[in-house]
Amino acid sequence: MAILIKGGEVVTCERSFRADILCLDQTITQIGEEIGPPSGCHVIDAAGALVMPGGVDPHTHLQLPVMDTVVADDFLTGSQAAIAGGTTTFIDFAIPEKGGTLTDALQQWQSWGEASACDYSLHMTIVEWNKKISKEMELLTLKHGITSFKFYLAYKNAIMVNDEELIAGFMRCKEIGALPMVHAENGDLVYIKQQLLKAKGVTGPSGHPISRPSCVEGEATLRAITIAELIKTPLYVAHVSCQEACDAIHAAQTRGLPIIGETLPSYLTLDDSVYQSKDFDFAAGHVMSPPLRPKGHSDRLWQGVTNGELTVISTDHCPFTKEQKRMGTNDFTKIPNGTGTIEDRLAILWHQGVNSGKITPEQFVALTSTNAAKTFNLYPRKGSIQVGADADLLIFDPTKNRTISAATHHQNNDFNLFEGKNIQGSVVHTIVGGRHLFNDGKLLANKGEGRFLSRIKDKC
Ligand SMILES: [Zn+2]
Repeated sequence: MAILIKGGEVVTCERSFRADILCLDQTITQIGEEIGPPSGCHVIDAAGALVMPGGVDPHTHLQLPVMDTVVADDFLTGSQAAIAGGTTTFIDFAIPEKGGTLTDALQQWQSWGEASACDYSLHMTIVEWNKKISKEMELLTLKHGITSFKFYLAYKNAIMVNDEELIAGFMRCKEIGALPMVHAENGDLVYIKQQLLKAKGVTGPSGHPISRPSCVEGEATLRAITIAELIKTPLYVAHVSCQEACDAIHAAQTRGLPIIGETLPSYLTLDDSVYQSKDFDFAAGHVMSPPLRPKGHSDRLWQGVTNGELTVISTDHCPFTKEQKRMGTNDFTKIPNGTGTIEDRLAILWHQGVNSGKITPEQFVALTSTNAAKTFNLYPRKGSIQVGADADLLIFDPTKNRTISAATHHQNNDFNLFEGKNIQGSVVHTIVGGRHLFNDGKLLANKGEGRFLSRIKDKC
């Protein structure tokens, strides 16, 4: 199957230029001016539009069993929503049971991943520490290309690790050449704040941001950086939401440390006033950890994005329905934590970032695709437009207006963080592995067409 994209403005993380792109089977085979279509070729007219590498979202939680329920999007619906929004690759997190093996968790997530309509990979989560896990980490890295490991400094009495476990895990990552990642909030402080608030009779969603203020993220971020610095390992700080964490990352980077910061469209555009709403479904719909922050923090995050302190914009896609969120009607600590933006990540960032002049189209490509691909050993197969790269592309109309709504999104839940928001700039076509799966509003993405991506360094 051949696809020829004609007349578009190609945008990469470095430059923009007018060119046609020919894709044969799953690969980009030619980039140039006035390419003639081979016989039987499917031609897409991209005149007036931008052609960019498909989005890479390195932080999702599809089908995750959590807090006595399961995330609303599975690998099929989540990948379909991703494709409709221009994302063609995502990296999810396998999370083992305590006492279980990493290999079992990997197999479980890979069996769910078989339903994905686009390519995906996995990070592994370390929820406890022992010799067996240490050994398995090497096996996962060498044999399966799982080259990144996540540690939670929050979620006490669940998947949180203590400092001793964190240090051992970081040391092991360094030994095997893997990248440690952290969810940085001080879980002991959050737990104590939650108990104090509940004792005072605070039960509603407004308790959520009070129980985990920005200082607990700042402390945990600095702690993880300090450990990484002593061990001399790079570190990936997931979902940076506040000034304190951004400042800690900036200070470390200024000292020359390889600290990578990630943030989300929600932290860049929304604030914690939503938790004061009298409408439980609305307030609970925004419950995520870290929580949305008071006004002002997002300015610091934008500064971090434009200065190159925060180089990856992901989603932490973890959506629930209103009904699921109502599990916490009488206790804010029982509201399932998470929100969904896998479909609107690119549109929101374009609207808020490029249209406002904060970032250039080239920076947009770096933040939504190339930097994540480079960080997680998927580049140049993913995140680039060059001959030999996977034919994962999006065609973007910067003039097209759209209103975001749960009524029209492809995510499998009835709530959208950006409900009613009018945006200018929209993905009109998505090509996934050389297949034209999103065509001006029509989604043709089928179950099981994606592949698991091993991230062994020399294989990419
Ligand atoms: Zn997450």
